[in-house]
Amino acid sequence: MNLLEYEAKKILRASDISVPHSTLLGKGNSLQNVSLPSVIKSQVPIGGRGKLGGVKIVKTVDELERVSDSLLAHEIKGFLPKTLLAEEVLDIDKEFYLSLMINRSQRYIELAAHIDGGVDIESHGSKEFFRTQVTPNSFDAAGESLAELYGLPEKTFVLQDLVDKLYRCFVSNDATLLEINPLILTTQGELIAGDCKMILDDAAAFRHPEWNFEEKPASSNFVSLDKRGTVATIANGAGLAMATVDAVTSTGHSPANFLDIGGNATTEQVVASFKKIMEFPAVDAIVINIFGGIVRCDTVAQAIIEAKSQLPNLPRLIIRLSGNRSDEAATLLKEHNLPLYRNLTECIEALS
Ligand code: GDP
Ligand code: MN
Repeated sequence: MNLLEYEAKKILRASDISVPHSTLLGKGNSLQNVSLPSVIKSQVPIGGRGKLGGVKIVKTVDELERVSDSLLAHEIKGFLPKTLLAEEVLDIDKEFYLSLMINRSQRYIELAAHIDGGVDIESHGSKEFFRTQVTPNSFDAAGESLAELYGLPEKTFVLQDLVDKLYRCFVSNDATLLEINPLILTTQGELIAGDCKMILDDAAAFRHPEWNFEEKPASSNFVSLDKRGTVATIANGAGLAMATVDAVTSTGHSPANFLDIGGNATTEQVVASFKKIMEFPAVDAIVINIFGGIVRCDTVAQAIIEAKSQLPNLPRLIIRLSGNRSDEAATLLKEHNLPLYRNLTECIEALS
């Protein structure tokens, strides 16, 4: 589950990590509580908002009204915000990058850091990042490394404390990613989380009755595999979903995810799955591999068509629907210029 910035920052605040003072704005909210000047930030579940006009500084009441109206109507990569976050304007001295994530191949929690944080982070090669495993025994060492990397020896203790808090926040909230970018050093010498992206493990929802976020889980069976993966997958049944991932891998493509959509391939479910897939920046094709047993292929086809019309910027769809009512499904898809492939082998051929 991908949290919005304000939801993630609420969790940071509860973990005693410094975040800017803020007010949440929704449709029809009074703007009177917003102190000026303020940074107004569109609450959409993707990064890169700064470069896409989703982060604006306002100085006057007039500007605040104009900007909040326009941001609420401004779609970013297919997402329209329901809320805006109005934050105090910080005097930025430096912007750093800091994140914790699960390193699945090594099976540990990994800290990644970069001295140049902010909106251009995507342009750094992944090799340039400082990376290290973190455990409760290594907070001090990790904090020291960060102080050296950031060139802030006088902040060693603060950074050790920050790693400690971030780690505990990560574990206790069942996060799979906690990214602070930028970690802002203010001209007053404070370190504050300027932005936060947090992904929580849907499979842990059962032990978090407090989870009540804007984005509902797309499915409890969505597993992120590779943030830079180029092919996304949707299938029904864990076995078929795994076979689909394997088939993609076998041709040299990198699968972004595993998704077992189960028997409820409704339009809502398909839209939620597509949205989740669109969080993977490198995906250029989605392989949909459904075997209609109980679920009807024509129902799934209809759901795909409707989901596609709601999300015009979808990557290429490579669809295989076979079994119960697949002929009707083929007719429906054809009417919408969506080719239907007969089997997984054909789907994989279509990828290359
Ligand atoms: P993102 O583009 O979606 O990652 O959004 P961010 O929240 O990271 O904001 C993008 C950029 O806006 C940051 O890297 C900062 O340079 C700038 N920004 C955000 N908050 C402030 C602030 O309080 N003051 C100033 N001067 N710039 C800010
Ligand atoms: Mn950011």
